[in-house]
Amino acid sequence: MTDTEPDWWRDAVVYQVYPRSFADGDGDGTGDIRGMIDRLPYLADLGVDAVWVNPWFRSPLHDGGYDVADYFTIEPRFGTVDDAMEFIEAAHARDIRVIVDLVPNHTSDEHAWFREALAADPGSEARDRYIFRPGRGPGGAEPPSDWKAVFGGPAWTRIPDGDWYLHLFDVTQPDLNWEHPQVRSEFCDILRFWFDRGVDGFRVDVAHGLVKDTTFPDLGDRGPRLLDSERSLDHPYWDRDGVHEIIREWRAVLDEYEGRMMVAEAWVHADRLPLYLRDDEYHQSFNFDLLEATWDADEFRTVIVESLAAADAVRAPSTWVLSNHDVVRHATRYGLPTSVPWRRWVTDGPHDALDRESGLRRARAAALILLSLPGSAYIYQGEELGLPEVYDLPDDVLDDPTWERSGHVHRGRDGCRVPIPWETSGPSFGFGAGEPWLPQPAEFGRLSVEAQGGDPESMLSLYRAALALRRRMFGVSDDLETLDIGADVLAFTRGHVAVVANMGSAPIPLPDGELVLSSAPIDGGEVPADATVWLETSP
Ligand code: BGC
Repeated sequence: MTDTEPDWWRDAVVYQVYPRSFADGDGDGTGDIRGMIDRLPYLADLGVDAVWVNPWFRSPLHDGGYDVADYFTIEPRFGTVDDAMEFIEAAHARDIRVIVDLVPNHTSDEHAWFREALAADPGSEARDRYIFRPGRGPGGAEPPSDWKAVFGGPAWTRIPDGDWYLHLFDVTQPDLNWEHPQVRSEFCDILRFWFDRGVDGFRVDVAHGLVKDTTFPDLGDRGPRLLDSERSLDHPYWDRDGVHEIIREWRAVLDEYEGRMMVAEAWVHADRLPLYLRDDEYHQSFNFDLLEATWDADEFRTVIVESLAAADAVRAPSTWVLSNHDVVRHATRYGLPTSVPWRRWVTDGPHDALDRESGLRRARAAALILLSLPGSAYIYQGEELGLPEVYDLPDDVLDDPTWERSGHVHRGRDGCRVPIPWETSGPSFGFGAGEPWLPQPAEFGRLSVEAQGGDPESMLSLYRAALALRRRMFGVSDDLETLDIGADVLAFTRGHVAVVANMGSAPIPLPDGELVLSSAPIDGGEVPADATVWLETSP
């Protein structure tokens, strides 16, 4: 399969599977690979080209698997390496590629290397795979720098013998020292291990991290806000030039194989992103600009035009994302007034500002924008069901390290990670045989795959229809021309197809052309507010 279409990723629709919350095959309340295998027919039927699986490696799951204890085995709650290989083969048999997550910035504190480091002496070789330093001030009681962790609290933790270690994320996620040759070679081995087991690509976590300024300058208030999309130039640990040498090493490994790809999660300044997409580096990078944009035609148009120009300049395809496991689901985001900052809304509210209906209407319209753009589109599990953010999870189930690390101030990202409802009823709406690891709201029954599957008006049916039409209607050409049909309207053509999104609050006349798909019922020759249509303008 990979031999015949080496550039499959250029226009692929990639479905993001968060294994813990996708499908629970053994009834223990946690999703697993068996569940993923069982649900592959659903993904094939949906029509996706690839899945990106969030980390499935052995992990204490302090950060949902982004704390890897062993990159060569699978977390037992998820299954075994044999299960993973069975999943990969079964996906391939359905023409679905498999991308997995590489987490190179840090390991879990349960990784054998970190255990060895703790057991060894300060200054030892074993400690040098991580970033250990003596503290400052009398008795070394102050951390080596004022850096803060992304999830809250200081980025340095002191161990009993007095040394401090760096962790840009949770205290259980010590940062690796990428100047250490063994760290370098280990990750090349990890890539080969999984390529040899059939994976088609890697999504690289915190791809702009890895290299630190080891003079450890204080940052003052230039905090670490990765999940707040900080894109600063000249930073002591984000986006440092040294990272490119590492990427090139990985790319050389990839190029030993046919048809494999790497996509970067790089929250960097727009001017710096092309550096990551050079011919001997990443194939593509997530473009979070659409995700960041508010529901506004001008904003969407600017993002689309600028992203395509930037992608074109480096001959890389653009990527499009509306939601993922780190952000408030877009069916909820679009239902909030623009005056409410959505990143803080789960914690700060006001929750009664949410207009669910318009959020859902806009999410439908956004799907037809996302799936009509040139390049590849990433769909986060559950967005095809229009799942909302579950913002009112009880405190005692919150699992995101942000909750603990912020001293119970920031509620974190659990609300977009609630297990998928497959059926209208049952203990976890068909997610598994038992109670799910995070509770699902009652409305999940009505939003389940079973409830939506046979309903031609449902969000699921819209995604299925759009995916089926996408390849036929848009082909592989990257051309896109914007049209000016009026304020509040995002409109463009791609070949003989016109895409018209009415992002305003009043209906607009339906433009000429044969209506092929619409996110809302079209009555009386008008496109209603918050709706997108696909029109065929010539044969
Ligand atoms: C992942 C997060 C994770 C963090 C640390 C991110 O960018 O997407 O889910 O918490 O990296 O690994």
